[in-house]
Amino acid sequence: GETLLRVEGLTKYFPVRKGFFGRTVGQVKAVDDVSLTVRQGETFGLVGESGCGKSTLGRCILRAIEPTGGTIRFRERGGTEVDVRALDKQGLRSVRREMQLVFQDPYSSLNPRMTVAEIVGEPLVCHGVARGSELRRRVISLIEMVGLSARHLERYPHAFSGGQRQRIGIARALATDPGFLICDEAVSALDVSVQAQILNLLRELQERLALSYLFISHDLGVIRHISDRVGVMYVGKLVETAGTEALFARPHHPYTEALLSSKPIPDPRRKAERIVLSGEVANPANPPSGCYFHPRCPYARDICKTAAPPMKQVADNHYAACHFAGELNLRGAL
Ligand code: SF4
Ligand code: MG
Repeated sequence: GETLLRVEGLTKYFPVRKGFFGRTVGQVKAVDDVSLTVRQGETFGLVGESGCGKSTLGRCILRAIEPTGGTIRFRERGGTEVDVRALDKQGLRSVRREMQLVFQDPYSSLNPRMTVAEIVGEPLVCHGVARGSELRRRVISLIEMVGLSARHLERYPHAFSGGQRQRIGIARALATDPGFLICDEAVSALDVSVQAQILNLLRELQERLALSYLFISHDLGVIRHISDRVGVMYVGKLVETAGTEALFARPHHPYTEALLSSKPIPDPRRKAERIVLSGEVANPANPPSGCYFHPRCPYARDICKTAAPPMKQVADNHYAACHFAGELNLRGAL
């Protein structure tokens, strides 16, 4: 498909403050020179350990967080390309009808004092899309599209299961008829069987509504199931991108190999199933020199300690930021 979203050199630095007066003592490069594209109709999966900057990247694309640098170009339904970073408030409001965020936690992202009708209808009212009986008709059609029904409309979020709440969150995200959804850990808080239902729903909706997704998750199984292409993030940087099959069968970055070989350890709270690798995750406020992965990398050589590796093309549509990309024989997943 055509390119829908083109992100180039995106950065987000947060100041590190210290002491009672909050003196700035440094910067965290939460997103560090990331470039990626999302094509029309595809799912681009963004994977990495928690804290690697993937949520910050997602929010920067929507300018829910202001990026520090880089460009974001988005093609609207009409075909007009928009420079998202240059938009004023009004322009941003209009582009946000077409780019929506689906959050991780359907328990905290739905207002407990609003009915389902109010939650799903709010964006329509806010953007002046519909009111009165037309509003009701649109809300019912949205709620049915996600597998709920009109009899749920007057209920409050607490009356629903986690999966149903995520359906309500998706209905709300779809209210303004967006073409692009950023799903941030959208199924991570759910039981595995419910996860599969929500992933299938997202796929059906993608077909039906010609949606494109940026799907952010720490869960490799989920990413593999839903994505057409995958980007792997490590300490604010994109270290590998490839088609899903290629990435899982034949990774070209040692960090990706390590991710694929590690078993996620279920957290008792289940929200954050952390991937466990040996060695410490680099501190983004004080990252290592050279390649950020070198203290944990079994293939590291001298150059890795001093020079940051550039992104190299290793195959069609396959890129890895490693000095030895293409030369290492790395193990994929089964
Ligand atoms: Fe490992 Fe060096 Fe490649 Fe970094 S550049 S991933 S340290 S081999
Ligand atoms: Mg996150």
